[in-house]
Amino acid sequence: MANLGIPRNTIEILQKYQFNFQKKFGQNFLIDTSVLDRIIAAAEITDEDCVLEIGPGIGTMTQYLAESAREVIAVEIDRNLIPILEETLSAYDNVTVINEDILKVDVAKLAQEKNGGKPIKVVANLPYYITTPIIMGLFENHVPLQSITIMVQKEVADRMQVGPGTKDYGALSLAVQYYAKPQIVANVPPNCFMPRPNVGSAVIRLTRYETPPVQVKDEKKMFALIRASFNQRRKTLVNSLGNDPKLNLSKESVAQALGQMQLSPTIRGEALTLEQFARLSDLL
Ligand code: SAM
Repeated sequence: MANLGIPRNTIEILQKYQFNFQKKFGQNFLIDTSVLDRIIAAAEITDEDCVLEIGPGIGTMTQYLAESAREVIAVEIDRNLIPILEETLSAYDNVTVINEDILKVDVAKLAQEKNGGKPIKVVANLPYYITTPIIMGLFENHVPLQSITIMVQKEVADRMQVGPGTKDYGALSLAVQYYAKPQIVANVPPNCFMPRPNVGSAVIRLTRYETPPVQVKDEKKMFALIRASFNQRRKTLVNSLGNDPKLNLSKESVAQALGQMQLSPTIRGEALTLEQFARLSDLL
């Protein structure tokens, strides 16, 4: 099968099937072989790996993955792409295509079935409209993972790796950094896709920690605090946590815990490190 990373091959297959792009599914297909090579290299795929690809599209990256991995599972929501994938992946017997919404798939169960519960690698050019729920779903549902190597909107990649005191710092930064070590691998301009997205993109690799970099007694509680802190970003922690109906905390108890940590009672969540959120959660 022709390499779909070459634009004319992608155009040919799209025309053959009279495929119409669906904006609602975030369909921007990669048409750049050097970007594809970089993603595969960054993901460090070996012939022992079981890889989950989210949104294979017409199978461009799937072909690359099938060449290097032992097994590829590709989950695609758009049923119009299924006959195309049957053709473009016909040369490979190590690919399983599942026509489903990734947010409805039990990925932990899939990893159990396909990889005996051993850690899998996730590689994807993500549909940007659901980047955060996909990543959070993989982490929070405790899917056995080695790494996630994904194309995302540039701004979101930045958000994943910044620390306190920057405007991009938020709940996503803290969640990603609790579970994984983020590393931006490449910046990718709009002309590497068809159709061109109207934002810049970046490839980021998240390498899962075996043990998180900070210890916390109740992970769920810490993330509830983090979410509440950034829901009302401009408010002080005493106000945002003390007013949150779900948390059931008094302003006094928040102020007291901050005092024990030698932090100002007027401090905002955006100034706290992951370690400080863990400590605050334990104190509360
Ligand atoms: N991997 C292909 C490539 O690189 O050319 C396509 C990437 S495109 C940015 C995102 C893909 O995700 C599309 O094929 C789209 O149909 C699919 N998709 C969108 N929402 C999805 C969902 N909820 N579950 C599974 N796939 C989804």
